[in-house]
Amino acid sequence: MKITKVEPFTLHIPLGRTVADSFNQTDRVGMTGVRLHTDEGHIGNGFTTTLGSGDDLIRSAIERYYAPILMGRDPSYVKKLWHELYWSSLHWIGRQGITTMAMAAVDIALWDLVAKDAQKPLWRILGGAKEKKIKMYNTDGGWLNKSLDDMISHMKQLIDQGWSAVKMKVGKPNPREDYERVRSVRKAIGDKIDLMLDVNQTWDLNTAMVWGKRFEEFQINWLEEPLHPEDIRSHRILARELNIPIALGEHIYTRQAFRDYLVQEAVEIIQVDVTRVGGVTEWMQVADLAECFNCPVIPHTADAGQVHQHLVAATPGSPLQEYVAVERGVFTEPVDVREGWLHIPETPGASTDFTPGAFEKYRVA
Ligand code: MG
Repeated sequence: MKITKVEPFTLHIPLGRTVADSFNQTDRVGMTGVRLHTDEGHIGNGFTTTLGSGDDLIRSAIERYYAPILMGRDPSYVKKLWHELYWSSLHWIGRQGITTMAMAAVDIALWDLVAKDAQKPLWRILGGAKEKKIKMYNTDGGWLNKSLDDMISHMKQLIDQGWSAVKMKVGKPNPREDYERVRSVRKAIGDKIDLMLDVNQTWDLNTAMVWGKRFEEFQINWLEEPLHPEDIRSHRILARELNIPIALGEHIYTRQAFRDYLVQEAVEIIQVDVTRVGGVTEWMQVADLAECFNCPVIPHTADAGQVHQHLVAATPGSPLQEYVAVERGVFTEPVDVREGWLHIPETPGASTDFTPGAFEKYRVA
């Protein structure tokens, strides 16, 4: 099998609602990626996700720098190609961020091709670790721009639908307001529901120490991204002091950075995202690394869970997956979630095929 055409694309998909955390607000997601055409007729699809900004930079990395490396090559040499992209001329100007996100799109497309060629779902190629279904948690009830009443009624609705784990955003300008919101939500949903808090990086260490301690009384499953993601030292101090596990990883772009967090005991739940690290190849390495530390992997799912369902299904130390709703008509086979459980797909590939309708409606020139 040989790659005969490298076709980058960008889609801007409306969310149908505005969602906010403590530093971002958006009504759309950008999906920039690549379709790898082959001489055997298979098309591999891979993408990374933005909030609609910077897609042009990622796409340019794919189009101008990675495409010439990929043309004419056999996609089954995934790891060889990964290293060639990593050590390409872009190594000089950036080894994380735009470059790893562009690599993620390519690497996912390569793995999609490998799985399609084998006529198996990706998780079977990687080695299945779970049978039939994966437990999920829901992030949609807890956006920061929701009023307390809206949040509580949305979460109750989710619980009625069978969800048993939900996440809410914190990081209001005054943490006292966060405290009141968390207290009210815990009271409303009861003690049997798992509740996670996500700060989205906006606290400093003092705020995290003081308010993190106060949140302990609400039986919180994890505190997510309390601080700046490059500040390993402060996370280590916080992890030692708090009786709530520290979760992070959605803004960590390399296995080396995950290694440093783990070695320094500064993280307790790894949220590695396949669209941020360099794709499936690097995600699996991070998951193996986490397993060496007995640290659970619960990925941030910027891909709407499409690729992550395969990775979680292939990872023994991955007990849970995040769910954020994206329009059903975007993927040919959207994640199959019922009553808080994801049903693992059997269709060959990485579940990254977009519908023709999505390309028609949402493609950005
Ligand atoms: Mg988060």
